[in-house]
Amino acid sequence: MQGDTLPLISHPEFKNICHTCGTRYAQQAPENCPVCDDQRQYVPASGQKWTSCDELSKTKSIRLGKLLPDVYDLRISPAFGIAQRAHLILLPGGNILWDCLPYLDEATVAFIRSKGGLKAIAISHPHYYSLMAVWADTFDCPVYLHQADKEWVMDKSERIVFFEGHKQVLWDGVEIIHTGGHFAGSTVLHVPQTGDNGSLFVGDSLQIAQSRQFISVMYSYPNQIPLPLMEILHISGQISPLKLNSMYGAFEWQNIPTGAKEIFERSMKRYEEIYRH
Ligand SMILES: [Zn+2]
Ligand SMILES: [Zn+2]
Repeated sequence: MQGDTLPLISHPEFKNICHTCGTRYAQQAPENCPVCDDQRQYVPASGQKWTSCDELSKTKSIRLGKLLPDVYDLRISPAFGIAQRAHLILLPGGNILWDCLPYLDEATVAFIRSKGGLKAIAISHPHYYSLMAVWADTFDCPVYLHQADKEWVMDKSERIVFFEGHKQVLWDGVEIIHTGGHFAGSTVLHVPQTGDNGSLFVGDSLQIAQSRQFISVMYSYPNQIPLPLMEILHISGQISPLKLNSMYGAFEWQNIPTGAKEIFERSMKRYEEIYRH
C-alpha cells in the first residue's frame, strides 16, 4: 500500500492539524483554531500549535482494542489532541466508524479493510471531526453529521451528509440520535443488537464519569460550563425511550458494560432535583 492509497495524508507543506483539538483544516491552517478559541475548548498556556500527518507519523500509531465481539475501539498512541477514541462497529449491513481520529495509518486501513471496510462514518460533534475527510476518502464512504453543526466543518468534503431533525436511521436498526446540549448538533449512536441488550455510543454528548456510576451533560467539559435544565430534560427525553444496557464514551475508561440505562436515569433525575430546589 503506497501513497496513492492515502492520497490526502501526504501534504508535508501544510501544517494543518491543530495540536490541541486535532481538527484538520482544508489547506494551510489559519493563525488561530476557531474550535479551540470557542468556549467549549481551550488554547493551552503554551499557545496555538500546528502539526501535520507526516509529522505525526514519526511518533504515532493507532492502537486497537476489542470491546465486544463486534466492536473495536481505536486510539492514537501516544495520545494526541483530545485523545478521544473512535469505535469500529461491525454490522451485517455494513460497518460504521463512530467518531473519528486526527490520524490514520496504513496498518489501521488494512485492519478495517480486513473486516469489510466502512459503509459510513458518523461523528458525535465537532471536537471529533478531526481527519474525517481523509478517512471518508480512504474508505469511500459518507460521513453523517447533524446540520446544526455545519458551521464547524473546517475541512469541507462532498462526502459529508448533513441530516436534520431528531434522528438519522441507518441500517440493522442503528440510529444516530440528535441530543444537542454540548453542541447544537451533538448526537449519540444507538446500536440495538450490540452487547446484551443494546448499546449506546455517546462520544461526549454524554460524559461518563470516572466512577462509571454517574453520567454528566455539560455545555463545556474542559471549562465546566453547565447546561440549562431545559436542555438536560431534552437530552433525557431523547435517550429514555431507547433499549440499552451498555454505554461507551469517548475515552478509554468510559465503558459501562451493563446497567447503563439505570445509571443514566439516576443521573438525569439528580440533575432535575438539584435544579428544581
Ligand atoms: Zn483546535
Ligand atoms: Zn466535546
